[in-house]
Amino acid sequence: MMNSSVQRVLVTGAAGFLGSHLTDRLLDMGHEVTGVDSMITGSGENISHLRTHPKFKLITADLARGLPSELKGQTFDRIWHLASPASPVGYVKQQVITLKVNAITTIELLELAEKCRARIFVASTSECYGDPLEHPQKETYWGNVNSVGMRSMYDESKRFMEAAAMAYHRERGVDTRIVRIFNTYGPRLAVDDGRVVVAFIKQALQGEPLTVQGDGSQTRSLCYVDDEIRGFLLLMESPDYHLPVNIGNPDEVSVMQIAQEIRDLCGSKSVIRHAPLPPDDPRQRCPDITLAKKLLGWEPTVSRRDGLLRTIAYYRQKLGIPAAA
Ligand code: UDP
Repeated sequence: MMNSSVQRVLVTGAAGFLGSHLTDRLLDMGHEVTGVDSMITGSGENISHLRTHPKFKLITADLARGLPSELKGQTFDRIWHLASPASPVGYVKQQVITLKVNAITTIELLELAEKCRARIFVASTSECYGDPLEHPQKETYWGNVNSVGMRSMYDESKRFMEAAAMAYHRERGVDTRIVRIFNTYGPRLAVDDGRVVVAFIKQALQGEPLTVQGDGSQTRSLCYVDDEIRGFLLLMESPDYHLPVNIGNPDEVSVMQIAQEIRDLCGSKSVIRHAPLPPDDPRQRCPDITLAKKLLGWEPTVSRRDGLLRTIAYYRQKLGIPAAA
């Protein structure tokens, strides 16, 4: 059951893909939201409609340099830590910031949560499973991660984030929630973010070749953003459960099939061109969501077709490409 009283909420990464959708929902629910964003991977456009919202305040600051002074002395009921580069292209470009924001900032926010007795939600990832040897992935699987590989700054800092949340919970009684996010897509992903859905949509709409990396047989499981955010809100307000929970869509699909579906739904004549597979690209990924179903009564409801159509409509408008006649 959702708490109906008004909450003072802090959202890090509020101008990002997930952060901006979450902020919209929290404001719809009547909460007061302070957002923090460095605008490194987030975008002012994602929250431009909130500029004059009476219950929204934005602090533009790089959390990797420490919590902004504006937060000193403020208290919150809920803290959502979503700030981080999250695409493989993005975190390799911002390796140190990625490490700092997921490790040091997490500690700083756990301290803040302890001080103001806030409940804190940290955004972990299916990358904690690395290139998984167990399939589908249950929360109890420990993962297969290369600690010095090209994704390590992300994977290992997210694993640290989980360890930190558990330590502050176990030793200091901080009220923590940990989500493991699987591939999520929808409007507001940055156009040049590099993640598969937006990359293929942009290429298909612009009539460019779709760059399938490797042979395209690797799999992912795509969750539409509205489903993901609904899962977040349920987890945050769930009764005492502090271990990680997978929130993702178990509808597994190959990258080649994603390319073909997007091309068809865009009505595009783009060809498919193979590109080299980046190092440590997981072979397969699919969440086991038994726990989320049992604990939260959550499961995704938006089909891949519907989600892709909504996402394509958004990028058509954003890129100024008229619908095919
Ligand atoms: N991918 C691709 N072409 C692209 C971008 C990604 O074939 O232009 C593949 C990538 O190799 C991976 C999958 O799509 O197997 C998902 O990549 P993404 O960057 O979206 O996120 P990941 O799940 O790897 O973190």
